[in-house]
Amino acid sequence: MAISVFDLFKVGIGPSSSHTVGPMRAAYLFCQQLKHRDILKQTATIKTDLFGSLGHTGKGHGTDKAIILGLSGYQPDAIDPDIIDGILNQVNKQQSIEISAQLKIAFNYKKHLKFHKRKTLPLHSNGMRFVAYDGDDNELLSKDFYSVGGGFIISHNKLAQKEIVEDATNLPFPFKSGEQLLALCQTNKMTIAEIMYANEKTWFNKRSINKQLDNLWQVFKACVERGLNSPGELPGGLKVKRRAPELFQSLRNKPQAALRDPLTILDWVNLYALAVSEENAAGGRVVTAPTNGAAGIIPAVLHYYYHFCPEANIQGIRNFILTAGAVGMLYKENASISGAEVGCQGEVGVACSMAAAGLAAACNESPEHIENAAEIAMEHNLGLTCDPIGGLVQIPCIERNAMGAVKAINAFRLASRGDGSHWVSLDKVIKTMKITGQDMQSKYKETSRGGLAVNIIEC
Ligand code: SF4
Repeated sequence: MAISVFDLFKVGIGPSSSHTVGPMRAAYLFCQQLKHRDILKQTATIKTDLFGSLGHTGKGHGTDKAIILGLSGYQPDAIDPDIIDGILNQVNKQQSIEISAQLKIAFNYKKHLKFHKRKTLPLHSNGMRFVAYDGDDNELLSKDFYSVGGGFIISHNKLAQKEIVEDATNLPFPFKSGEQLLALCQTNKMTIAEIMYANEKTWFNKRSINKQLDNLWQVFKACVERGLNSPGELPGGLKVKRRAPELFQSLRNKPQAALRDPLTILDWVNLYALAVSEENAAGGRVVTAPTNGAAGIIPAVLHYYYHFCPEANIQGIRNFILTAGAVGMLYKENASISGAEVGCQGEVGVACSMAAAGLAAACNESPEHIENAAEIAMEHNLGLTCDPIGGLVQIPCIERNAMGAVKAINAFRLASRGDGSHWVSLDKVIKTMKITGQDMQSKYKETSRGGLAVNIIEC
């Protein structure tokens, strides 16, 4: 499967790529299919059933809101986060959803949206079923979708697979493993970023690639900026206070402290990660990198590169994103980027690995050093479980992003001080991560039935 780096890094809204972005896209697509089959006009109601992890933690992750927004014709990359509350309030007040300019359908939250905690659809732990009915309660169309992480969705419907998941494009430099990627770099004397540029040219010209990469950087920056300047409490009932604004003030007000303590740089890295993760938890605009739960790591390490690495420049940022994308594709292709499938190692672990590789690329390390950095970062995230308290992407997720960002920088530093040779290859660690995820009990995979989620009392 050929995927573009811009499929992996998608602009969307928080708090979860698999539980918010994916379901919103699926709901939108279901309405498109009704339209495509010319049965939209006959539709009187749409029932949505959420299974597995979506059934367990969908409420805390905003899946219900995402479904309503998707059915209302909004897509995660285009919606203005500031209008979301207004739309939801209106749906609640009017007990109807406007699925097109001419059509409103009845919508009762309890009747038309069901969270199934004990049922799972066969192919994946994040299953959804949409069923459309006419005015006499006759079924018009039923579709199952799976949200497989990072905002990607899979449907049995061929049209959906073609439009959203499958892309049979022949790439000039196809790779499915880290070994193949390194071989391509050696044979063609190219960097990983150059390989990625060449592959992206299948879909876009170089100007457009740079424009999209620069746009991602702008969204990353805007998200950090908003997070730094948005004090208050996060939604969801845990009463978690946003920490980034206060930390920002204290770092800005005491610059002389940084001269005494060189590790102040880590405070800044933590700050960037907290800012983005808090923005994500608040339902703000973020980039799936490769998921929303782990969305703070890559922007935090990019900001570290931009502000603290000598000779940082825009080409370094582009190389960072492309190389991180190459590593993310390896995980997506050979393991998983879904917390519901393999635990948090698939989200924070993968983001950490991608960021370590990206930083190494931005700092002009060799492909071997980059592969080594990516491997180290994942090796020390193996077994990381997903156990969000109250099903909210807040505790441990927000701090975990800060830890992941710092770990990525250290993985890069460990790799860059070596000669590129190492015992465990990236491919081996990806395979280990997948097997570890399969062996992990389901209560540790985004169900909030294990770990911190059951050992900390919600107040
Ligand atoms: S614990 Fe990790 S995988 Fe689970 S919701 Fe939080 S960030 Fe995502």
